[in-house]
Amino acid sequence: QECSRFCLWDVVGILCLLSVAAALDFKYHHTEELEAYLKGVHAAYPSLTHLHSIGRSVEGRDLWVLALGRFPTHHKIGIPEFKYVANMHGDETVGREILLHLIDFLVTSYRRDPVITRLLNNTRIHIMPTMNPDGFEATKVPDCYYTRGRYNKNGEDLNRNFPDAFENNNASIQPETQAVMNWIKNETFVLSANLHGGALVASYTFDNVTGSLKGYSRSPDDDVFIHLAKTYSFNHASMYKGMGCDRQTFPEGITNGYSWYQLEGGMQDYNYVWGQCFEITLELSCCKYPPADQLEKFWRDNKAALIEYIKQVHLGVKGQVTDRNGNPIPNVIVEAKGRPHVCPYRTNEHGEYFLLLLPGTYVINATVPGFKSMLKTVEIPDNTGNFSALKQDFSFSEVSIRSRAASCPKTPLYQDLELASAATKPTLHILVLMTVMLVAFK
Ligand SMILES: [Zn+2]
Repeated sequence: QECSRFCLWDVVGILCLLSVAAALDFKYHHTEELEAYLKGVHAAYPSLTHLHSIGRSVEGRDLWVLALGRFPTHHKIGIPEFKYVANMHGDETVGREILLHLIDFLVTSYRRDPVITRLLNNTRIHIMPTMNPDGFEATKVPDCYYTRGRYNKNGEDLNRNFPDAFENNNASIQPETQAVMNWIKNETFVLSANLHGGALVASYTFDNVTGSLKGYSRSPDDDVFIHLAKTYSFNHASMYKGMGCDRQTFPEGITNGYSWYQLEGGMQDYNYVWGQCFEITLELSCCKYPPADQLEKFWRDNKAALIEYIKQVHLGVKGQVTDRNGNPIPNVIVEAKGRPHVCPYRTNEHGEYFLLLLPGTYVINATVPGFKSMLKTVEIPDNTGNFSALKQDFSFSEVSIRSRAASCPKTPLYQDLELASAATKPTLHILVLMTVMLVAFK
C-alpha cells in the first residue's frame, strides 16, 4: 500500500536524521552536511529549536540560522535575544565548526544540565554557523594564511561591507550583508559575537574613528565592552594569557578594535551603532583554516567561554515602557545617563528596552521624543547568575502616547563628536535628539 510505504520511509528518514543529530564528528561540514546536521537537530528537538534561512549568498546558498530556547520561533517579552555569527570570512573556519558543537552541547544538555536549562529557558540564542558559505566552498584545502575564500563570490570583504558610523562606506552592500542587516532590524538583539580566525584575541568596538585619533577608539560603553571581552578571554583555555600569534601580544587577551588596526564597514560597529546590540569580534585560531584533527581541541578550548559569554546577555537592566492603560509604547528613547548613543537606543514594538550595564548605580532616562522624559535611579546588582537583568518598567501617566519611529541617519554620525570637547557633549546629544524629533515629526 502507498501509505505504509511512505510511513516506512518517514520512519527511516527520521532515524537517519536522529543519527545525524546524535553523532557530530570533529570534521569540516560542507554545505550539504551542514544543512543535514541542522535539519537533523531540528527534527530531533522540534520544540527547542527553530531552523530558518535569513537569505541567500551570491551563489544561492542558504544563510541558515538555528534559534534555540524555550520559545525558539518568536520573541517573548523579557527574554533577550543573543546571536553568534561565524565564517563571515570564508577561509576562517574554526568558528563554523565549533558553533555546530555548541548547538550539539546545548540541545543535549537541556533538561539534563541545570545551568544550560536555565540559560535556554531565559534566553533566545541564534546561531549562524556561516555567513559566507560561498567563500568557505571556494577554499579548497586547509590553509593557515589568507586566501581568496575570505571574500564572498563578488570579491567583497563582508566585514568591510556594512554602513559605517565614521565615514561613508562606498562598498556596495552584498546579499549576505543585507540579509544580516535585515535580521538585525527584525530582532531585538542585545548581545552578539562574530567568530574569526588568524589571531587569538577578543576585540571590541570601535574599529573605526574619524580623523587621526591616537591609539584607542572609545565607545560610551567602553567599561561594558572590556568586561565582555574579558569574559571570553578568561574563560578560554589560553586567550587570557595574551600571547596572541607570532609576535603579537594582547594584554589579557583583549584589544580595542581600532587600537589593533583601523577598519571601515565592520559588523561589530554596525551592531552597536545601528542594531542596539553589543557585539565583539572573537579571533579564535592563529591558523585560519587548521586541519580537522585540531577541531576537537578548539571546541574544548572555547566551550566554557562560549557559554559564559552568552550569560552576559543578562547584564544590566531591562523593562517595558507603557502608557496609563498599560499599552506598550514603541520608539521611546531609553538610555543610561552619561552614555548617549549617537543613534539613540529605542524601545521595540512591545515597548521593551534592554541596556547592558555593569553593577552600579545609574539614572535611566526614558524619553518620548518631543513630549516628555521620565528618570529613574536604579541599583544594578551583579546578577548574570540569575539569568535575568534587573527589571525596571516605565509607565507614563497619559493615555495613548505615540512615539513615531525615529529613523537613524545612514550617514556617518560621529564626525561632529571629534570636534566637541567633553563639556559640549550634552549639547550635542540634545542636537541629536532634536534631529531625531525633526525626523519623527516631519
Ligand atoms: Zn576574519
